[in-house]
This record gives sequence, structure tokens and C-alpha cells, in this order.
Amino acid sequence: MKVYLDNAATTAVDGEALRAMLPYFSEEMGNAQSVHSFGRRAKAAVEHARRQVASLINADPTEIIFLSGGTESDNLAIRGVARAYGASGRHIITTRIEHPAVLAACQSLEQEGFRVTYLPVDRSGVVSVESVRDAIASDTILISVMHANNETGAIQPIEEIGRVIDEARAAGSAHLRFHTDAVQSVGKTAIDVARLGVDLLSISAHKIHGPKGAGALYARKGVRLAKLLHGGHHERDRRPGTENVTGIVGLGKAAEIARARIDEMDRVRGLRDYFESELRARINDVNINASVARLPNISNITFCGIDGEALLIALDLRDIAVSTGSACSSGSLEPSHVLTAMGFRRDEVLASLRFSLSLATTREEIDYTLRAIEEIVPHLQRLSEEDDEEAALPLESEI
Ligand code: PLP
Repeated sequence: MKVYLDNAATTAVDGEALRAMLPYFSEEMGNAQSVHSFGRRAKAAVEHARRQVASLINADPTEIIFLSGGTESDNLAIRGVARAYGASGRHIITTRIEHPAVLAACQSLEQEGFRVTYLPVDRSGVVSVESVRDAIASDTILISVMHANNETGAIQPIEEIGRVIDEARAAGSAHLRFHTDAVQSVGKTAIDVARLGVDLLSISAHKIHGPKGAGALYARKGVRLAKLLHGGHHERDRRPGTENVTGIVGLGKAAEIARARIDEMDRVRGLRDYFESELRARINDVNINASVARLPNISNITFCGIDGEALLIALDLRDIAVSTGSACSSGSLEPSHVLTAMGFRRDEVLASLRFSLSLATTREEIDYTLRAIEEIVPHLQRLSEEDDEEAALPLESEI
């Protein structure tokens, strides 16, 4: 059995989305800017996808900008606002648990003279609304807080922060803009941009069973954005470059399916909760790193006393795919900045794994994974106890 529990890193393209895309690789190859019939059909497909994406988040289609994915979407929101509103202020507020796409975009702006406040989170990985309120200064132009975290699934109080921002605007900070990275939460939980009160929201296709290399930025009407790239006047002059028609069609279809199947996320939550309660019952010393509000598909677990990387490899040998931290930080030896910001000790961070489910995950796969963990973890825990005992023995020179 092959078990894929790394859906927060990426997902399989949905069969229907794939079928929708296929013609645009070949016979429907038109450039959406061309005036002939091929071009017009490509353009119609792009505009259909724009409506599909808009309707997933309750936006107007004219507020959707297509681009290459979550990373570009975060960068356009952050750098685009900073450049467009830089004359009104040079202060940005974000959190310590953002995806590197947000953190690195903010750091790049620090190099250019902007001041960035990185807010802390509590032990469950949630930022406090009060801390946002306290951080707002007269020169704050942008607040970027992710909707749900990619390592823990913790949902942030975006609606409440939106209200705080409205108050600040009423008190004179009319230029303040609010961005949320919803790359993980779109399609997992219902999203309504009006209710959230955000000006900008980032989406990535490959996290919702669409293709890699496609994404969108919701930018509320009236929000100014400086372009990251320079070229033609595509996407209402906000993102130049020939439209990735195939990717956009795939994103649109994936968005339509995600919307239609959103209620099925309850089943995913049920499976995830079953996984966690069985783990608690079967394994000693596990901690479930959960916030009160959490995405239904992510489970972040600390297996006390073991090396998470060793467990990941042992699971991989049994064809079970999970992850330590986010896909982007694995490969680097840096322990997760998210769990570190939550106050975890280094050994706790290194003993933590992320399991992320999808609509395709089955009970059999979860049971298979539980059996594998039950066999591997006690063994790894014993090994690490033996190591500790050995380390506690006096050295020969000390005897
Ligand atoms: N933001 C979050 C929260 C993510 O989880 C990811 C992907 O891991 C991204 C942004 C980047 O998206 P993309 O891979 O489409 O560039």
C-alpha cells in the first residue's frame, strides 16, 4: 500500500481538473491575447476560471489576478502594497509563523528601509488580536497574517484582526491594507473575503488538487499594487506575461470542485481525529500540537524522545509519505521556525512530524499508518533511552 499523507506540501491533480486542462496543451493552444478564434477561446477559458476562483472565496471576478502560485501571490501582495503605499508609511506587521514566501518578502523590504514587526504566537500557534492592535502605528501600511498555518493547521483570528484594522482606518489610518496567505485554508474551510475583511488573499492551485505553477491573488477593488514584473498589460496591468491558460483552467476547475466538496472536509476531520485519538491510545508520550480552531486535514504530532527524521525515513521505507515541518524548510537543517515560535524546545521540534490528509485519504490508509507507527516508534524511543543512558555513564577518564 502507498500512503500519501503530505497533502499540505502538494496534492494530486484531480482527474476532472486534468481532463479540463488537456485540450489547452494541444488543440486549444491559443494565446489569450490573440484576436483570432483560438485566442478568443483561450480568453474565454481564462475568464471562466476567474469566475470559478472568485466564487470559491465570494469575490468579484475582476478582483482575481492569475499568477504563478502562492509564492508569487504573497510577494505581489506584500511588495506590491509596500511599493504602492510607501509614501504613506514604512511599517509592516506580520507574524513569526508565516510561510517563507511572506517572511522573505518582508525581509527584502527591510533591506529597502521598511520596518517590519514580526508578532509572536502562543503555544498553540495562534497570534493574539491584541498584539496586532498594539503593533499598529501611524505609519503602518500593511498587515499580513496567514489564514491557516501550513505546519500546524492553526487558524488565525483573521475576522477579528479585520475589525481591528477597520477601527484603525476609522481612526485615521485610511491607507492600511490587510493581506492573508490562505494557501492552506482555501478549499479546506469555507472562505468569504467580505466576512474576513481582507484586502488581499493568496491562493495556490497545487494545494487544492490543481496543477503546480498556477495561483491567484485576490485584490479588493480599489487596492493599489505596484507590479513585480515589467512587460505587457496582462491581468488588468497587474501581472505581465502570457497567461498560463492550461494552469489557470486547472486552477479554476480545482476551485469549482473544492467549493462543491467543502462539506466533505467533515469526513477528513473525522479521519484526522480518529488518527489522533488512536495515536494517543497506542503510543506513549505523544503530544498533538493543536489549536482550538484548526484545519481539518493537518495533524502535527510530537513523538517525545525520538528523532522525527528517523521516523519519517522508517515510514518512507513502508511507502508512507509524511513531513517534518514544511516542504520548503525540509532539506535545510534548520528546525521548524513555526514550532520554535510556539516555544518548543529544539528536541521537541526535531521530534515532530506533520501528517496532512486529503479528500482521497481512506480509513485503511490511516490504519496502515497507525500500525506502522506502533511498530516503529516504541523501537525508536527505546534506542534514544539507551543513548541517554550511555551518555549518562561516566567517561573512562572520570572513573
Ligand atoms: N504559503 C503557504 C502557507 C504555503 O503552504 C505555501 C506552499 O507550501 C506557499 C505559500 C507557497 O505556495 P507555492 O508553492 O504555490 O509557491
